[in-house]
Amino acid sequence: MDTSTGSTASDRSVDEGLVCTSCGATPPPGQEPAARLTWSRGTDGRRTTWTCDRCSRANLRSIEGKLDPAWW
Ligand SMILES: [Zn+2]
Repeated sequence: MDTSTGSTASDRSVDEGLVCTSCGATPPPGQEPAARLTWSRGTDGRRTTWTCDRCSRANLRSIEGKLDPAWW
């Protein structure tokens, strides 16, 4: 029998910091907790992506015109 152990510590939910995937902006020091609420969170595969409030606003304008209202 194989003794393959140690596959439990792969789920690292470490704080890697917020970085806007659109413009690369980062929240000011101390503002990360607030940014997590205001920024748009998405998932790209297994990664978590963040879009800052400024970019999400800009994206929303273009998205609203393209996507069906039912999508929301
Ligand atoms: Zn941005």
